[in-house]
Amino acid sequence: MSINRSISYPEERMPKYVYYFGDKKAEGDTSMKNLLGGKGANLAEMVNLGVPVPPGFTITTEVCTDYYDSGGKYPAGLEKEILDNVAKIEKELQFKFGSPDNPLLVSIRSGARVSMPGMMDTVLNLGLNDRTVEGFARKTGNERMAYDSYRRFIQMYSNVVMGIDSEHFEKLLHDKKKAKGALLDTDLEASDLKELVEDYEKLVEKKNGKSFPQDPMEQLWGAISAVFESWNNDRAVTYRKLNKISGDWGTAVNVQAMVFGNMGDDSATGVAFTRDPATGENCFFGEYLVNAQGEDVVAGIRTPHPINIAQRTDGSLESLEEVMPECYKELVEIYQKLEAHYLDMQDIEFTIQEGRLFMLQTRTGKRTGIAAIRIAVEMVAEGLIDEEEALRRIEPDQLLQLLADVFEPEKKAQAIDDGRLLARGLNAGPGAASGQVVFTAERAQEEAAKAKNVILVRYETSPEDIAGMAAAQGILTARGGMTSHAAVVARGMGKSCVAGCGALHIDYEAPAITVDDKVVKEGDWISIDGSTGEVIEGELDTIASEINRVLADGTLRPEDSQVYQEFDTLMQWADRYRRLGVRTNADTPKDAAIARSFGAEGIGLCRTEHMFFGEERIAAFREMVLADDHDGREKALLKLLPMQKEDFKAIFKAMEGFPVTIRTLDPPLHEFLPHRDKEIAELAETMSIPVNDIKRKIMSLKETNPMLGHRGCRLGIVYPEITRMQARAIIEAACELAKEGVKVMPEIMIPLVGHVNELAAQKKIVKEVADGTAEEYGVQLDCKIGTMIELPRCALTADEIAGEAQFFSFGTNDLTQTTFGLSRDDAGTFLPFYIENKILDGDPFQAIDRDGVGELMKIGVKKGRSTRPDLKIGICGEHGGEAGSIEFCHQIGLDYVSCSPRRVAIARLAAARANLKK
Ligand code: ADP
Ligand code: MG
Ligand code: MG
Repeated sequence: MSINRSISYPEERMPKYVYYFGDKKAEGDTSMKNLLGGKGANLAEMVNLGVPVPPGFTITTEVCTDYYDSGGKYPAGLEKEILDNVAKIEKELQFKFGSPDNPLLVSIRSGARVSMPGMMDTVLNLGLNDRTVEGFARKTGNERMAYDSYRRFIQMYSNVVMGIDSEHFEKLLHDKKKAKGALLDTDLEASDLKELVEDYEKLVEKKNGKSFPQDPMEQLWGAISAVFESWNNDRAVTYRKLNKISGDWGTAVNVQAMVFGNMGDDSATGVAFTRDPATGENCFFGEYLVNAQGEDVVAGIRTPHPINIAQRTDGSLESLEEVMPECYKELVEIYQKLEAHYLDMQDIEFTIQEGRLFMLQTRTGKRTGIAAIRIAVEMVAEGLIDEEEALRRIEPDQLLQLLADVFEPEKKAQAIDDGRLLARGLNAGPGAASGQVVFTAERAQEEAAKAKNVILVRYETSPEDIAGMAAAQGILTARGGMTSHAAVVARGMGKSCVAGCGALHIDYEAPAITVDDKVVKEGDWISIDGSTGEVIEGELDTIASEINRVLADGTLRPEDSQVYQEFDTLMQWADRYRRLGVRTNADTPKDAAIARSFGAEGIGLCRTEHMFFGEERIAAFREMVLADDHDGREKALLKLLPMQKEDFKAIFKAMEGFPVTIRTLDPPLHEFLPHRDKEIAELAETMSIPVNDIKRKIMSLKETNPMLGHRGCRLGIVYPEITRMQARAIIEAACELAKEGVKVMPEIMIPLVGHVNELAAQKKIVKEVADGTAEEYGVQLDCKIGTMIELPRCALTADEIAGEAQFFSFGTNDLTQTTFGLSRDDAGTFLPFYIENKILDGDPFQAIDRDGVGELMKIGVKKGRSTRPDLKIGICGEHGGEAGSIEFCHQIGLDYVSCSPRRVAIARLAAARANLKK
């Protein structure tokens, strides 16, 4: 034995390219998603669970990556494995691939690691040709179905493999229906379909110069290559870019025996969710069509029927539960089994062939942010998952959907009363959106680029429309159900979507929508409510979401909002599992109060300059800036002191019991000066100095490179009276409140420090004022003095800096600018190009550049704590509200992040998730 082991190198085993699933046992399982793709791994898992699945095999993603690495070649040995596995299906089902009497037909299905809905194309009924179609008709005794399958195959194969536009086939189908007086596809008879097949074949010959391939093996290889090729088609690349999916993963190919939902009235096909993907409600939710195949349900060719009675709102459409009760019952058992097994909401696809149910797919279902929270919270209550898992399942940015505005109810009711309700469709993607109508994805992109709000209106969307959908405020379709392309993609993007709005007549030529006698033209405003399905003419005002009405406005009681309660539960769990503190960036008492209600534990950045922009303040401030000497400045500052003090008092009160970090004056002084002659003249009048003097002064303050100019602590060093006034305002405010018994925790933060001497000089001023003022008031006040770290030199000398600073706060906006030597305000002209061409992975102003800026932060933390082990360190740049950056802050040991009030909840969740990550 030991000798044997020493000579068998596992690396030398024959690589395995193909995994079989069928015969109650699969070679793969759900843990092999990277190799088998999501679809293949889950098909294998379902087989292992004893769920009925047509047999088949999966060609691994490795073959796809090899294919690209080798410039379009397949590994040796793949062909044999494929033939062996086809033989396995043949043996299991007793059909034969290419047999004229008893043909095996297969589907070719793509499937990457993560689902990319509609990104790559499926070919059904492969193996049919002019001879096998007859055998197939004989064997099934269903000629109509055989030719229906064949015409679908020719269309799909010609489109996916040979690149012939589907529209040509659709037109022939349309013409045939018209000629035969058929309303629906299903009204066509066998003989019609036979003729149609001939038309299709002629079309292929004309477009392609050669006839439709008749050899099933040739068909099989053609389809496999097409799936691999489709990994790099434009829509797949766009989708990956939008969803940050790596281009290196590749797709698997699944080859699976066909089952037929188009065998007649005892056959059907459908898709379903184990819970409502829009609201998260725990109810089985789906759609199906009798006598249909493949993507008929999703494509919106016929209006799909609801899956059960509970969902049957439109009385005319019979549900599966009523039409095929036995199959429905089995489907319910299977979905429950799948949900209990995967412990998450599943998105399933099934086909019923002559009363027999087959599962064709299961995957974790996409859902809205609202649904995600409800499902997670309820699954914890049901004992399916624990709190930690619930937190792992919710992407922090999904919370944005809960916070998004909705239409103002009264305004909407009024609009409907006024007869502005255009139509009702399906509430496919929650959220309210108003915008100008556009009819193509390209127009949507063009108009959005001009900062216009647009609603993209289509009969149905397809993967080519993705970029336009991303650019639009909302999406409105006339066809398709809750599981249509538009609906699925919109929910994924968090966009408002109304789908399947059958009353709309869309004329792409005009272009316009007509509903009865109403006409909506391109550029007209409409409003869509993706939570209710209403489509309303004109623009509509929006109001805050339920969460915001409870927390920010106080106009809704918590007990009246289920969404709020679930959100709150989740947030409490987040607090239990996070280590990072969460503060907010707020300059007003109102923002401070809102942030606090969202769970902020203090202010990490209060910018004092924003307080100078009020009407009377700006005058006093300008006076200060323009004063020629120290006395002049002091005089103006004295006017500002009481105003600043009142501001600070209000903010301290709003944040009682929590630290408030106030930054001394930061921007260059010329930012405060007037530019227009009228303002300059007014200022000259108040200060009683000549206009020209003011103009000269303004000129003298101009800088070539203000970002690196006279700003930050450099102001307070040259004009110490500014720092002195601000320190006094802060400390007096704190002392007065302390005397009233309010618990205040001021922290004074010096910006743009590059050298320890700068900090030492400012600190000395602040400390003198603080000690003196506290003594005057007779109050014991603990006021911390610290610095922002926003220059590389500050990070690199953090050990010296920490000798003077009681806390650090990373100002990562400026730190990114100065580390990269990149002006954020000017980067717009080339940064998109950089990202597009992969010079940079992403925008470093959005997510922290871990290797560069992050490295400086690490140095700052390490050196700072080497001098002062208890140094408190936070971040107040915009990165403090971005989930990935928050994770990084957690990893490098920061104490807290500070972000805008709107993102506090996101930060709490992101902080918990960072801590839960192993
Ligand atoms: P997508 O990734 O776009 O969901 P699928 O590979 O799931 O594409 O195929 C789309 C649809 O085609 C399925 O939902 C199913 O209805 C149909 N289909 C795929 N394979 C088969 C099969 N072997 N038998 C019957 N129908 C199939
Ligand atoms: Mg598809
Ligand atoms: Mg599918």
